[in-house]
Amino acid sequence: MFIGDYHTHTKFSDGKGSVWENASAAREKGLREVAVTDHGFHIPSMTFAKYLEEKDLCKEAEDGLGLRVICGIEANIISLEGDIDVKEEELSSIDYLTVGFHKFALFKGLSDFFKMYAVTYFNELVKTSEKAVERNTRAVIAALERYPVKVLTHINHSLKVDVPAVVAACAKKGVLVELNVKHLDDLDGHWEELERSDARFIVNSDAHRPFEIGELAPALDAALRAGIRKERIVNYYGE
Ligand SMILES: [Zn+2]
Ligand SMILES: [Zn+2]
Repeated sequence: MFIGDYHTHTKFSDGKGSVWENASAAREKGLREVAVTDHGFHIPSMTFAKYLEEKDLCKEAEDGLGLRVICGIEANIISLEGDIDVKEEELSSIDYLTVGFHKFALFKGLSDFFKMYAVTYFNELVKTSEKAVERNTRAVIAALERYPVKVLTHINHSLKVDVPAVVAACAKKGVLVELNVKHLDDLDGHWEELERSDARFIVNSDAHRPFEIGELAPALDAALRAGIRKERIVNYYGE
């Protein structure tokens, strides 16, 4: 049983449902909590002002539907120094900060674009060089150190990293490592490293459509198969 699904998107960014529809879907699946985590502010459709609007809608859905609706952001890592696309002065308004890497976000500078986007793009054709992996790892760890991050979303997706090093940084900072139903492939060959680490995990759907919310079994099964004890998965309880 899951308490909640803490990574879902709505029409505010690239999802299909409204906040209300996501919250209703979560309630129908028997969840007690759901987080709306639209993308950070370096994607064309999302702004800080829209986030504030979304917060009101989360409150409305929470009151109307009787489950906890957390309003978060899935911020983008946009530079090699670990900058994210939420400004310092906006951070205190963000109720739940998750961070991930997305190719479609606007990068901070040209060099970040070339070293992160272009290299990532070619990743799909050739194996990422060791140097790129080191650079990516430093960028992700810097983001974890600089910001009050709760969850690192889809680790090793697009941006290839030294998984044990990043997971160790998460454990040290108390950042949850996400097991993302949509991106389990990116963890192939790394499950043993996750199991051996001291990190704690959260299983999320990354739903872009309401009906995907709460469909968490594939990630849970993969984790349990890898020998990860269920007590380490923070949003899972009982059988
Ligand atoms: Zn993402
Ligand atoms: Zn997402």
